Amino acid sequence: MSGGSFSKVGVVGLGTMGAGIAEVLARGGLPVVGIEINDEALARGRGHLDKSTGRAVKRGKLTEEGRREILDRITLSTAFADLADCDLVIEAVPERLELKRRVFAELDKVCRADAVLATNTSSLSVTEIAVTTERPTQIVGVHFFNPAPVMRLVEVIGTVLTEPTAVTRVSDLVRSLGKTPVTIGDRAGFVANRLLFGYLNHAAAMYDSGHATLEDIDTAMKVGGGLPMGPFTLMDLIGLDTCLEVLEAIYRESRDRRHAPAPVLRELVTAGLLGRKTGRGFYPYDNAASSTTASATEAVDVPQPLVGVVGSGPLAVAIAAAAARAGSQVRYVGGDEDKTKTAWEALEGALEAEELARVTGGSELGSLSDCDLVVEAVAEDTAMKASLLAAIDDVARPGAVLGTTASTVPVIELAMATDRPADVVGLHFPEVGGPLVEVVSTVAGSPQTTERAAALAARLGLTAVRCRDRAGFIVDALRFPYLNDAARMLEAGYADADSIDAAMTLGCGYPTGPIADLDRLGLDRTVAVLRALYTESREAALTPAPILEEHLTADRPLR
Ligand code: NAD
Repeated sequence: MSGGSFSKVGVVGLGTMGAGIAEVLARGGLPVVGIEINDEALARGRGHLDKSTGRAVKRGKLTEEGRREILDRITLSTAFADLADCDLVIEAVPERLELKRRVFAELDKVCRADAVLATNTSSLSVTEIAVTTERPTQIVGVHFFNPAPVMRLVEVIGTVLTEPTAVTRVSDLVRSLGKTPVTIGDRAGFVANRLLFGYLNHAAAMYDSGHATLEDIDTAMKVGGGLPMGPFTLMDLIGLDTCLEVLEAIYRESRDRRHAPAPVLRELVTAGLLGRKTGRGFYPYDNAASSTTASATEAVDVPQPLVGVVGSGPLAVAIAAAAARAGSQVRYVGGDEDKTKTAWEALEGALEAEELARVTGGSELGSLSDCDLVVEAVAEDTAMKASLLAAIDDVARPGAVLGTTASTVPVIELAMATDRPADVVGLHFPEVGGPLVEVVSTVAGSPQTTERAAALAARLGLTAVRCRDRAGFIVDALRFPYLNDAARMLEAGYADADSIDAAMTLGCGYPTGPIADLDRLGLDRTVAVLRALYTESREAALTPAPILEEHLTADRPLR
């Protein structure tokens, strides 16, 4: 039998989380006492357990006999006194401090003096709960994720008052249940929610500011940021009321205005538009078709463009390769001889012979004179980019779209280096060789050019989203502050790199954790984008965490 040093566990509140937690414990072979407020709620709790284990049988993950054994291990009751011989009790009642305090006062009375009492709170202070009991040394947080039987992460929270052995025993139990414990201190939102909700609120504020549409932000983060779903789809799924509550709780502690709920969130909640559960939140869900967010730009009917690409780095190669693959003729202009040779080798490696035949190279910009779209993809150097765009302006035909891949320089600075700023757009690729391009329009740009650029990008097989000329555009503007927050957590010693990464991958379904992301994206790029974000916003929290600057200077990855 598993369970580490615990032999019988109580669960108070058998709602969404409590029923799942009781099931996990019973599956692990532990006898469980489940407590509800009255018979009706108890019957609902039993219903959750029956349904969840029944589903497991149907999916072949559990035998009928196994299911019976699990359910037999769970005793249901409405009397707190039945918890008297439990050595661990996990509370999972609704997220209200005064209710939780009342429950803990009661538990303190009925439970054995050496029993550990745990709360499954998502955002309340474990310390505030602990100090209302006579046994603050035995109080921990044990934060399961929904659905508890499926999600592998459990955040185990010790307060300054908790005895270390209580934390260790609970972590051992979590491990014995086949889950991954992450041991951390008592900070609002712990690791996963603190990082996740900061990002979600930032996305809401970005939408509120008119920078980009809901659909474009969602598409950008999904296709360009590699996330399983965009921020608005996720908030609608979580419930906007829950989002608002969690943000308020984090803000109360952090006093960071980035955690002050975006006005649009409060407006939707006040209007009763809480997300999927009410049929409408950021998106309407009144029919099945609307539950998937539309992709930003459809491949509209424009002829296959003749594309010019200037540059010799991996980005230039990736753009030229994408265009050739999509069937476009490509005029490729490299830099110095060595770099151009390397770029050609990369193109030869990336393309089939028939695709490669569509690419013609040269060192003269004049070869770009008949292109429909010319993209400069040279190094991030303002002066170099500006003079190159001015030179492209001299040779490109009237009506051609001129694109710059600038990532930290405002597009408008480069557009103004030409005599046709109306025809200049930013074309930002958050991942080199990735499917997403952010089409950036400036105040000097014409809406027709933006539309045309998006349509041409779609023709090249790319997913195009539109946004204004603001630092970081969409993906970088949302992900680097999140990554910086993770770096600050690491720096403060709040959690180690493995714990932070596990929290986001196992708790939030991110494909990779933020510390791994920082090393993958590169600390030079991270610091450059954060500096650009800070310069624009003067938001102190966006200055690069010193640990990033230090590792960059030492040329050492974070891990
Ligand atoms: P829920 O409303 O589904 O369930 C709460 C249950 O507690 C209800 O069944 C209710 O009848 C019962 N209850 C209320 N007062 C009680 C009392 N005095 N004694 C015994 N039972 C009582 O809520 P939930 O979503 O399961 O959330 C529970 C806790 O878990 C909250 O602290 C929440 O923040 C946290 N949490 C929720 C999620 C989630 O996604 N739902 C994820 C992680 C953590």
